[in-house]
Amino acid sequence: MTNFMITEDFPKNQTEFDQRFCDEQACHEYLFQLRWPQGFICPKCWHTSYWQSARGLLICKRCEYHQSLTAGTILHSTKKPLTAWFKALWWFTTRKSGVNAINLQDLLGLGSYNTAWRWLQKLRSCTVCEGREKLSGSVEADEFYLGGRRSGKRGRGAEHKCAVAVAVERKGPKLGRLRLQVIEDCSAGELIPFVHANVAPGSIITTDGWKGYSALKGQGYGHKQSLQTKTQDKNSVLPGVHLIASLIKRLMLGTFQGRFEKKYLQRYLDEYVFRFNRRTTKSVGKRFFRIVQQAVVSSPMSNKQVAMGVISPLLAN
Ligand SMILES: [Zn+2]
Repeated sequence: MTNFMITEDFPKNQTEFDQRFCDEQACHEYLFQLRWPQGFICPKCWHTSYWQSARGLLICKRCEYHQSLTAGTILHSTKKPLTAWFKALWWFTTRKSGVNAINLQDLLGLGSYNTAWRWLQKLRSCTVCEGREKLSGSVEADEFYLGGRRSGKRGRGAEHKCAVAVAVERKGPKLGRLRLQVIEDCSAGELIPFVHANVAPGSIITTDGWKGYSALKGQGYGHKQSLQTKTQDKNSVLPGVHLIASLIKRLMLGTFQGRFEKKYLQRYLDEYVFRFNRRTTKSVGKRFFRIVQQAVVSSPMSNKQVAMGVISPLLAN
């Protein structure tokens, strides 16, 4: 991502979106503006003048290199019209709880469920902005489980579930930004690297009494334990992370009918974090703008890479 200021140009609502992105040329111009905000530069010879072929290719006037607008982005080698991708980007970012592949297939009239599913996986991979700022200040950290039949923490029956580490900023009574990460188990070996990857040193981290966090103090963090007394219910201790856990469980049941594969879970969580951290953004179009911005700087994903999922998110960071 460049430091250069980009005019935040986006449709403010559905009507503006429909009017603006009704043809290929309009979508092409928008992507162009976000991919080359300072103007086109030939990737071979750095020349800046070009002409556009009838098929929309950008041809360098000096070396005649043919550059496709979508090559090297998440839309790499797509055969579908840009207008369809734009609709997918719009629905993905503006629907309150997102869309699943069946919704998207219906909305776009796509012939194949698998295409809709792959598109969503690709869009989800664009929700994490590289080099994003770590959480700071007062932060609650905890873990919860998704999937499986039995509830409960860290105990027996946990082997069929997916453990998720959660950290959220506390701003007085309100919640700030959120981070979620699939972890192998709730050991210190998983939790401490999660905190390092997501919370700035010097922050004050509140956890429950779990021993997995006891190493935090020696690692540049303040550590407070919030212990549950006999008269308290569990949600009054660490209310922020417990709220997040229940919202995500509800989402997984609602949008995905509780069915998900562990290797794709991180992408669902990334999408949730993207939405959550922008929940107070006034214009829905601004989320759309952010995702398109990410889509043009995200590396292409082959079908095989999409299907592979995210195996070890902490290593991938
Ligand atoms: Zn050139």
